[in-house]
Amino acid sequence: MSRTTAQTPIDEICNRLWLAIAERKLRPGARLKEEELCAIFSVSRARVRAALARLESSGLVTLVPNRGAFVSEPTIEEARDIFFARRTIEARLVERLCTNVTPQALSRLRAHLEDERAAHARNDTSAIIHLSGGFHLLVAELAGSRYLSDVLNELISRTSLIIAMYQSRSAPDCGPEEHEEIIRMIEAGDAEGTKRAMDAHLQHLEDALDLQEDKPRQSALSDILA
Ligand SMILES: [Zn+2]
Repeated sequence: MSRTTAQTPIDEICNRLWLAIAERKLRPGARLKEEELCAIFSVSRARVRAALARLESSGLVTLVPNRGAFVSEPTIEEARDIFFARRTIEARLVERLCTNVTPQALSRLRAHLEDERAAHARNDTSAIIHLSGGFHLLVAELAGSRYLSDVLNELISRTSLIIAMYQSRSAPDCGPEEHEEIIRMIEAGDAEGTKRAMDAHLQHLEDALDLQEDKPRQSALSDILA
């Protein structure tokens, strides 16, 4: 689901829906009508159902008998649990990267940070969301854990759902400053400091959420995926 190059029509449907959820174009609770998806992707109903079943297994879609498929609506308890999982996993990933970091890895982190700064400078919301999550995926990739990269990919999509549901007025996306602090700690070879910086960063994201706020409004499926 995380791959940008789709291999099958089902992969493509999953990737497109995953990206729309990750970029918060598809909101929690949005209805995913089978016939609309068939038309948008020019595929059979069987393929759409297979894609929706795969997205359900990764927690992004909820299938309701006799009603259809909806983008999942994480509860407050689930939201806290996702952040707990991310803090636990990412602290260890960044520690592992810190103890084995290469100059090439540092260059890639710095280059990514520059892309994030550029996206913030031009106020490109879609790129900001994509690159914010991308920083965390890059850390996992550079730490050398393909399995945890896949796990994190799913957790980041779920984080997007949580932010879409529970964000307060100021958008609580990762800022480049906190990512830079993490890179500085990695560069200094300070494993404990790196773990602390990552933990504080994820805690900051969680603290910025308003866990009392109602669900946001939704857009038409055909507009989002057009
Ligand atoms: Zn971040």
